[in-house]
Amino acid sequence: MYAPPPGEQAGPQTRPASWRRRPAARRARTQRGEGFRQHLRLGRKGLAIGIDIGGTKVAAGVVDADGRILSEARRSTPGRDPRAVEQVIVELVEELGRRHRIWSVGIGAAGWMDLDGGTVLFSPHLAWRNEPLRANLQQLLRRPVLLANDADAAAWAEWRFGAGQGEDRLVCITLGTGIGGAMVMDGRVERGRFGVAGEFGHQIIVPGGHRCECGNRGCWEQYASGNALGREARILARANSPVAQDLLAAVEGRAEAITGAIVTELALAGDAASRELVEEVGEWLGLGLANLAAALDPGLFVIGGGLCSAGDLLVEPARKAFARNLTGRGFRPAAGIQMAALGPNAGLIGAADLSRVSSRTWR
Ligand SMILES: [Zn+2]
Repeated sequence: MYAPPPGEQAGPQTRPASWRRRPAARRARTQRGEGFRQHLRLGRKGLAIGIDIGGTKVAAGVVDADGRILSEARRSTPGRDPRAVEQVIVELVEELGRRHRIWSVGIGAAGWMDLDGGTVLFSPHLAWRNEPLRANLQQLLRRPVLLANDADAAAWAEWRFGAGQGEDRLVCITLGTGIGGAMVMDGRVERGRFGVAGEFGHQIIVPGGHRCECGNRGCWEQYASGNALGREARILARANSPVAQDLLAAVEGRAEAITGAIVTELALAGDAASRELVEEVGEWLGLGLANLAAALDPGLFVIGGGLCSAGDLLVEPARKAFARNLTGRGFRPAAGIQMAALGPNAGLIGAADLSRVSSRTWR
């Protein structure tokens, strides 16, 4: 199954030229040419508003056709009431619309949207259950509206304007409190048959392992996320281990106050125990990526989210674990692993851009 093509010897020294990944600069240049798909509406150059609805804040921005943010506005997330959230969206669009002429509005939120981007099936932070949000908002805003899962929106932005430019089979992983996942395949966001693909964080990686909020045990996000990093650091601190001294000092001895963000900060400052903890999370990350490569065979993984501030402390161990666990290693080309380029605004940029090029990129 992993036999090399006729005339080729297996092994790293004799990889066919076609296995080599194109350098980033060349990939970026081809993006606007051959990489840009026919189904995208090239002619539409108007401005779009992207809105990213998080658990605590709603961020909005006016985004141009090159993915640049021209103006921004934000509000606190107004509890769980769907009408109150709609009202905040209307206020933000009105505020930004006074400064720019807006063609369309894209909304990104955690949760599952139906396949045509009209109804929110379920959202964990908000009270949307089978909510026909697009129809409600189009009536209020009198503009085209598109709903997107936040991870899908971020992946789209990275493919169009960020680290994934020019890569036709791209998997994006967002490492925050949990793991967000999304795929852009052949110029489309791949969402599966029912619109709920990409829940990579809930692949069971340790049968019988840590309990996950999804109800199962041993999910990947219980091992390779900001929450996992915080939990492991708290366990280490409570064990009164002398290696956890600096960690405990940073929270004035209160082990329960340790979070993933604190561990990341200490790791970057050189604390040995924190670096080890980040490294361990990186290894779990690489193992899960190897599983995804076995199933999906992407050309590139783009890793984003808050935990990425750890940089190479996280990604290098992930690359090593990925190479060690990849199915058929040595006999196949391996996907690259890169950091995301657009930071926390990726979801907002992607939602805006999807609303502009919309329907035919969306399945
Ligand atoms: Zn789970």
